[in-house]
Amino acid sequence: MMALLPEFDPADVGAGRGLIDRLTADAAALLRDVLAEILRRNSHTEYLGRFLDRASPGASAADLRDAFKERVPVSAYEDIEPYVRRVASGEPSSILCSEPITHLLTSSGTSGGQLKLFPSTAEKLDQRLFYNGVQALLRKMHLHPDQGDRRGKGMYLMFIFPGSLTSSGLPIMASSSAYYHSSQFREHDIGGFGRCTSPIEAVLCPDGRQSMYCQLLCGLLDRGVVDHVGGTFANAFIRGIQFLEDNWEEMCSNIRTGRLSDWITHAPLRDAVAARHLRGPDPALADEIASECARKPWDGIVRRLWPGARYILAIVTGSMSQYIPVLESYGAGLPLVSPMYVCTECAAGINLNPLDIPSAVSYALLPNIAYFEFAEVTHGDDEKVQAGTGLYDNLGELKLVDLVDVKIGRRYELIVTTFAGLYRYRVGDLLTVSGFYNATPLFRFTGRCGVVLKIDFESISEEDLLKAISQAYELHLRPLGYMLGGSTAYADISTLPGHYILFWELATAEGNHVATDIDRAVMENCCLAVENCFDQMYRKSRRRGSITALEIRVLERGAFDALMDLFLSRGTSASQYKTPTAIRSEQVLLVLEERVSGRYFSQETPNGPL
Ligand code: AMP
Repeated sequence: MMALLPEFDPADVGAGRGLIDRLTADAAALLRDVLAEILRRNSHTEYLGRFLDRASPGASAADLRDAFKERVPVSAYEDIEPYVRRVASGEPSSILCSEPITHLLTSSGTSGGQLKLFPSTAEKLDQRLFYNGVQALLRKMHLHPDQGDRRGKGMYLMFIFPGSLTSSGLPIMASSSAYYHSSQFREHDIGGFGRCTSPIEAVLCPDGRQSMYCQLLCGLLDRGVVDHVGGTFANAFIRGIQFLEDNWEEMCSNIRTGRLSDWITHAPLRDAVAARHLRGPDPALADEIASECARKPWDGIVRRLWPGARYILAIVTGSMSQYIPVLESYGAGLPLVSPMYVCTECAAGINLNPLDIPSAVSYALLPNIAYFEFAEVTHGDDEKVQAGTGLYDNLGELKLVDLVDVKIGRRYELIVTTFAGLYRYRVGDLLTVSGFYNATPLFRFTGRCGVVLKIDFESISEEDLLKAISQAYELHLRPLGYMLGGSTAYADISTLPGHYILFWELATAEGNHVATDIDRAVMENCCLAVENCFDQMYRKSRRRGSITALEIRVLERGAFDALMDLFLSRGTSASQYKTPTAIRSEQVLLVLEERVSGRYFSQETPNGPL
């Protein structure tokens, strides 16, 4: 039997290939072992004991597995929240899992809308180490096969969320923060942090602005050795480039004089940058950077500032796909590498072909990290999935299949059982099977379950919405050189009949912000192009008049930054933040409403078959 977390060296490509083959070919056996081990350790916890109480102490792995399959219900956050709260207030971890719970991890709550807390253990950090190592291995295999030890560095932006403590003293933090603070990371990081330009003091700095400034500054200082740039999610990296656009003159002045700006006051960060990075005046480097930054438009800025960069590393699937045109413009032909599918509940999705173009990206779930099951979702199920009732709550009606039994072309909701206290837990993501690698399925990320917009009888999924926006953009805005810097949608029923509103932040190729000067007809055509992509029920409702013309509200520069700041102030970590594809909260709406600079409506009813 293969160890669940085998040790390996990500630089050893030959051995690495063998590891990937074993993980994907033996998926069924690994999953069986994972479930057996989770149940062996945890069947007597208070949570699982409620369902497995008849499993005798000497029950075989097969008995426990059968009992699990028969009796343990699918769970949602509401089911585990009371247990998490009890652990938070000092009750023993064993009510949920046999391993001591060492942290509570915050999920970003931006895609699903609700900030959640998940238990974490030391073992979960070991898993993270393994997972990051597999990604480093895949990058080495596909992106740096020829570089040996001469590899360059990554200008990869990473942030932590300072976190807090529960009343019993348990740390609450984002999963990336827990990892960067961990001994696993400090002592054994095999995921390649040592190859990043950001000093760890900048990553750990609790002040987001100081952290961003210094990470970019160090990225510029190391520009000659950078071989890739990026951040976890595309929007965080774009925010970094925009920050650079606003601050490059000051950074160049720091490089020219060899003196860090006084407003960088976080002592460990100041010391680290001064001691290890900004070691003296370098007017020649400052001039080179300044001449590139002063040249508008900023198309190709990544290639110009980091001439050795071979790719941009950032998640660009799902809601992040809206940022692809902006990244393509910054990268001027550099491949976009979307390396992982990761969530706080369980980090397990890897892209086995990192050079696939974004629209073809699929992820394999590592079968040694958790036990994965799937509930099939057909298109008509979306509304029930959104409501979170009816369809899946009755285990008798629910048809769960194992990871290795999913079928190509079908769409599923992901259900995970982890070592750290989640049992048949609905992650809330929809995944469509695109193929198999050995015995392991590959999934396209299709969207969040809760993101279905609805006013009348239509039902617009996250995927539908993103496709419609992308088509409208390609048809009407890209040819004019505009860039879409952010988009979110709102189903407005405050006046009847209701209508859809899209909030868009736009820029010209020169990097100038589009406020009121955009051609009205172009925007009206965009509205119609989006509507034309919506479903037949939408078109019917529009023709009947039970939904009125779709509206695009163009926003002032910085509106999506303000939105992100709102989420950060509520506890979301900057590394995990994802621009919500659709919004529901009044407070979020207000942030955008205050920054609207133009309003445009469809001038025709959408065409297409009824
Ligand atoms: P969090 O728990 O805050 O880290 O957010 C995790 C969520 O981010 C997942 O459940 C997905 O909805 C989303 N997500 C993670 N990875 C990807 C990806 N590769 N593509 C699209 N969405 C993703």
